[in-house]
Amino acid sequence: MRIESVTPFILHVPVTGATIADSTHTVSHWGVVGARVDVEGGLSGYGYTGTHAHLASDQLIARCIATCMAPLLIGEDARDIAALWPRIARHPALQWVGRAGLTTLAHAAIDVALWDLSAKAAQQPLWKLLGGQMRERVRAYNTDIGWLSLSDEALLRGAAGAVDQGFTGIKIKVGSSLERDLKRLNAVRKAIGGEVTLAVDGNGKWDLPTCKRFCHAARDLDLYWFEEPLWYDDVKGHAQLARATSIPIALGEQLYTTDAFAEFFAQHAVHWVQPDVTRMAGITEVLRVCEMAHALHLPVAPHAGDMSQVHVQLAYSQAAIAVLEYIPWIKDCFIEPADVVDGWFKLPQQPGAGTTPTPAALRQFGKAIG
Ligand SMILES: [Mg+2]
Repeated sequence: MRIESVTPFILHVPVTGATIADSTHTVSHWGVVGARVDVEGGLSGYGYTGTHAHLASDQLIARCIATCMAPLLIGEDARDIAALWPRIARHPALQWVGRAGLTTLAHAAIDVALWDLSAKAAQQPLWKLLGGQMRERVRAYNTDIGWLSLSDEALLRGAAGAVDQGFTGIKIKVGSSLERDLKRLNAVRKAIGGEVTLAVDGNGKWDLPTCKRFCHAARDLDLYWFEEPLWYDDVKGHAQLARATSIPIALGEQLYTTDAFAEFFAQHAVHWVQPDVTRMAGITEVLRVCEMAHALHLPVAPHAGDMSQVHVQLAYSQAAIAVLEYIPWIKDCFIEPADVVDGWFKLPQQPGAGTTPTPAALRQFGKAIG
């Protein structure tokens, strides 16, 4: 499986409605910035990272794939994933310009493409290569009904609709004002009843005093977790909040390395662990976080920068993963969409990592790589 070429691509895919917003981000499209890795014999592997569809920065990632990382791969055996990972991640010049951020996102696309290739070569869905099916089914929770930009009426309608569709978990964005957020959460809890898991996500907006006030006021809502309550890198703050509230703390979508997760573990600052294959340097690094979390008996709920196309493969095979995020924006761009039926993710059937885009998606949503 000698690697012959590595070709970047960029897709900008519309989100549900015109735009969505949480406390920190407003987006109209989701960026799928990827790599196609071709090997001798005609097989192609696909991987991608997820972005805000900001073309200028997407083009930087694409350029990093094409000009910094591709030369490290050409001529190598695509199945040597364990050796190729440090070849990129520990490359002295690339480390100098970034051990996190753009380089990690570009590396994610490549690492996922290599896993996709290995699974395709084995003619197996990726979960088979990652240890096989270890749970009967994977529970989905719906984030796409909970945006901060939705009106109160639309939020309630969406939450009730998700429950009608069979979802047993939803997530609501917070981070506007305590009064507005609590009013909405109380109304949602009333609408969905006590059986459905209700998580909240602050996207790092609030400070510690505000988070403490929120947690105190929300203590009777049976919140499943409070995600990214504080600034992403504030280990001590999260540890303090974790000690101060009974609401479980979730985080990890903005962490790029196992070292970053290790800090939060060491300080007992996280209860729900949320790595993302598109943020970290791919599947290889997320598997390490899953093992670390599992050893500490902490559940993993991956953040879906991939919109769960790849994470569903991990969720079916990794013991630590307890639940998986569902946002449907880009699923129809792929040959085998990560679909949910009655609130549960379908078991992928096709060979590969679930990352092969359809020719129509490449045509319709493709952008110039610059
Ligand atoms: Mg989040």
